[in-house]
Amino acid sequence: MSLVFATNNKHKLEEISHLLKGIYEIIPLEAIGCHDDIPEEHETLEENALQKARYIKEHYGYNCFADDTGLEIEALNGQPGVHSARYAGPAKDSKANMHKVLAGMQDKTNRKARFRTVIALILDGKEYLFEGRVDGEILTEQHGTAGFGYDPIFRPEGFKESFAEMDMDTKNSISHRGRAVSGLVDFLKTQQR
Ligand code: IMP
Repeated sequence: MSLVFATNNKHKLEEISHLLKGIYEIIPLEAIGCHDDIPEEHETLEENALQKARYIKEHYGYNCFADDTGLEIEALNGQPGVHSARYAGPAKDSKANMHKVLAGMQDKTNRKARFRTVIALILDGKEYLFEGRVDGEILTEQHGTAGFGYDPIFRPEGFKESFAEMDMDTKNSISHRGRAVSGLVDFLKTQQR
């Protein structure tokens, strides 16, 4: 069986293809000839993930899933949240995004934050949602160079290192995305046809 993943991010594709090896073939957007700018117009991760998955189902007809992730910071009323990628502007510049967060957090003593990923799956006409989250805190400056996005300024609960100071396996084993993907994979294993 095959499933379209509404992404062209090679890292995400490899990770999930590996987890579903022999069970589902995971197909990227470019392989179905989709080069569209898929709309994400909502104010929640759930609605955006569903909108992306529904777009693929509607326009291309495949069983598929889509993900959406946000960094939710308590002292900033849940921002940047769904706006995480473009927090400092349309350029999706990670450095600028981190600077904006650090500037906004300068006088805050409550540093609590969490990453949250939502995956929306459409399988045989039914819709399913899977969530993964990791709690932690926003550091006062950048630490480490691994990973991407906000990794250098996020320290997960129970660890001394930021995400950007961890190896990929350690991060994946506790991360928001890792946990959401586990939920999806466990479910798909029960759906084998
Ligand atoms: P996406 O929905 O996976 O594209 O994630 C949206 C934005 O959240 C990205 O552009 C990153 O800025 C941020 N982000 C997502 N996942 C991570 C992560 O694992 N570490 C750090 N930042 C992340």
